[in-house]
Amino acid sequence: MFDKLKRFLTSMLPVDANRRGACNRCGECCKLDYPCPFLRFDDSGLSQCIVYSVRPPSCRKYPRIASENRNHQTCGFFFVDPESAKNSPIRRAPSSSTSKSRV
Ligand code: SF4
Repeated sequence: MFDKLKRFLTSMLPVDANRRGACNRCGECCKLDYPCPFLRFDDSGLSQCIVYSVRPPSCRKYPRIASENRNHQTCGFFFVDPESAKNSPIRRAPSSSTSKSRV
């Protein structure tokens, strides 16, 4: 619950410039810390937000920073090390089958 509150309160801050990747519609961020009432899944199992166009910044920007990404095992976003010339990933998610973002 604290993480969700922190995410809400910091959601007006910018997204880390070292974030890479794209949403793969796994829907896991919409289940932190409890399932969002606006979360749905289509026939192929991809998540859909029924208030997508008016979703709050805390959802729109997830994961805003690396430490916020609590489900990096499934999330299509990851963060690179800014000090590394090769931009090596700090946290990398498994590759996804789609890049269409709807959550
Ligand atoms: S932002 Fe990440 S965790 Fe949330 S649905 Fe997209 S890929 Fe999954």
